[in-house]
Formats: sequence, structure tokens, C-alpha cells
Amino acid sequence: MYANRLLGIKPSKSMAMAQKVQELSKTQNILDLTWGQPDFDTPDHIKQAAINAILSGKNGYTPSSGILELRKAISKYYELIYGTLYDPDSQILVTPGVKQGLMYIMQAIINPGDEVILFEPYWLSYTDMIAFNSGIPKAIPASMNLRPDVDVLENAITPKTKAIVINNPINPSGYIYNYEELLHIVQLAEKFGLYIISDEIYGQISFKKFISMVEFENIRENLILANGFSKAYAMTGWRVGYLLGPESVISKISLIHQHTATCASSPSQYAALAAIEGEQKSVHKMTDTYMERRNVLVAGLKNTLFKVIPSDGTFYMMVQVPELPSGYTNNAVYLLNEFGIACVNGQSYGESASKYVRFSLTLSEKQILDVIARLDYKKKK
Ligand code: PLP
Repeated sequence: MYANRLLGIKPSKSMAMAQKVQELSKTQNILDLTWGQPDFDTPDHIKQAAINAILSGKNGYTPSSGILELRKAISKYYELIYGTLYDPDSQILVTPGVKQGLMYIMQAIINPGDEVILFEPYWLSYTDMIAFNSGIPKAIPASMNLRPDVDVLENAITPKTKAIVINNPINPSGYIYNYEELLHIVQLAEKFGLYIISDEIYGQISFKKFISMVEFENIRENLILANGFSKAYAMTGWRVGYLLGPESVISKISLIHQHTATCASSPSQYAALAAIEGEQKSVHKMTDTYMERRNVLVAGLKNTLFKVIPSDGTFYMMVQVPELPSGYTNNAVYLLNEFGIACVNGQSYGESASKYVRFSLTLSEKQILDVIARLDYKKKK
């Protein structure tokens, strides 16, 4: 019989929907807004770096914490952008994707029964990762317009609280935390001696000023930051991410990594090195495109029954669905059946998002106009 810790762990809902849509698309014209990955290909100079690495024989294991060049480049990047110093030897760990890095964090810090606080709407893997490690996810319902409700954070903290997870910019809403909100979280984490786990994988895809948690120097000893290459550089399949944190935690996480994955893929690490050291204009171009698509969707749905919460970053946006006709209980199923639009049901991101769906802006502007036309048509009917 399988282990008890698997009881209650659910399959990834966004992946389940994506599979269903692939099936339906064989026979129907479905506009697919489920995807959690860029619709761009990895930039050529990044691909070339991996090819060069493979051809020059860099095909063996690397140091478990990642190739030194990459750790140095990550350190330099944080110094340059945020003026903060992370030691490549002891405070940076390269992981096979950010998801794996987040799982390592949970494995390293959670004892059975520990509570981990997160804000709705949250990325759907956090709660399962926490539960998988015998922790208890404590979700704080969102406030108006799905804003993370940091004002009630203190009330949610108990003697069992171990950590606060924040995701900034947020998947699924694209919201970017402001300085006051981050400061409030930092102050409470300091006051109660909690870890902050900050998932900043969409930090480079921001349409307004983005503040990283590393900018709060006084929380450094309690901050574990997760970032990676999947989204900003269109490298989801390459599986490279990294963690920054105090040596005390990174050294423990490294033990899990050594006995789990050994190291991230060697050619992928050379590709990631080219990504972080090379030109950044492809990142800016992709970000600008997501922003244009966001603007088109916001403007196009303005006079429909579907209320959009404009995003500040990422390639996602939350859309409120009007009252469902009888016979329907799931927003995403309704949109799929009635409009041929595939998206992720809001409830996946916490109860307070249950009137919403998540749209991914990873399709062309022309297709986004088709989405708008379909939703507008139904209103007038
Ligand atoms: N964190 C968030 C908020 C995400 O949305 C995702 C992927 O969708 C990940 C982490 C996982 O990233 P990776 O593909 O690098 O494992």
C-alpha cells in the first residue's frame, strides 16, 4: 500500500485541463488559454550554448549545487539589479526547475503539523507540496479584486506557523505586491521568527515596478528565494531554477538535492548561463508582447459581462464569470462548453477565486480578439 502522505494529494488541475483540451481540439476549434508556459521558443543564443556544451563534452554530472559559472552569474545578477550579495559557494543552489526547488524548501523546513501561510489566489502546487510534507497549508482569502490580504496576516499566525509563502508577481492574477505590503510581511516574519519563501519566477515579466524580497536586508536570514529560467526566457522544458538563502538553510536543502537529483542537467545549466549573461532584449520583447495582449483583452472585455482584473505582470489574468446558468457548477467547464474557450477554473487557486477563471495570454493577439468576439457575442444574444 502506498504511503499515507499521498492521501489527499490531487493531480495538477491545470495539467488535467490542458490534456482535456488537447483531446477536444482534435474535433473543435478551441481557444486554449490554459497554458502555463510562453508561446515563444527559447531564444537562439540560449539553444546554441546548450549545443556547444553538448558538443564540447559537458555531458557528465556537474557539481551538485550547479556549475560555478552559473552560480557566479546569478550572484552577479542579483548584485547588479538589487545591490545585494549572495555567495555563489554557500548561498546559491541550482535546481532542476523552480518547482523542484520549492519542494526541497518544504522538505527541508516543515515538521509534521507545521503551518505554512499563503495568500489566495495562490499557485496551485503550493498547498499540495506543503501537505505532501505533512504540513498544513493556511490560506488567507483574498480581499477586493483578488488582492492578497496582507492586513489579516498577523491573525493567521499561530505558534505552529513555520513560514509564509509569497509569489510575486502572482500566478494566477498577475498582481505585483507594493512596498508597504512586502514590508508588512517582512516585519511580521521578523517579529514571529518565520521563514519567508518568496517565489519570484515571474519577476522579470512585470509591467510596473517589481520589488524583490532580497531588497529587505533585515529578513535575509529568514528568506529563501526561488527563481529560475522557465518563464522569462521561455525555457520551461530545460528545467533550471535556483534558490537563494542563508547558508544554514541552503546547506540542508543541498543534502536533499544531492540525494534526489544529484544536479540539474548539465547542458541546461550552460543554456541558463547564456540566458542570464546574454542579451536581455528577447525577455523585454516577450514581456512587451504579454503586456500588449493584456491591454487588448482588458479593452475588449470592458463592455461585456466578463470583468477582468488587469494584471501587473506574468502572462496570466483573472476574469470574473457572470452567474452560471443552471446545470453548471464549474466556470471553466461552462466557458469550454458554451464558448469553446479553455481556461483554468478559479477555485483551483483558493475559494475566494471561485467566481473567476484564469486566462493565459500565451496565444496570438488575433486569437485574443477571437476570445473577445466569442464572449461579446454571447452577451448580445
Ligand atoms: N512557481 C510558479 C508560481 C509557477 O507558476 C511555476 C510554473 O508554472 C513554477 C513555480 C514552476 O516553475 P519551473 O517550471 O521552473 O519548475
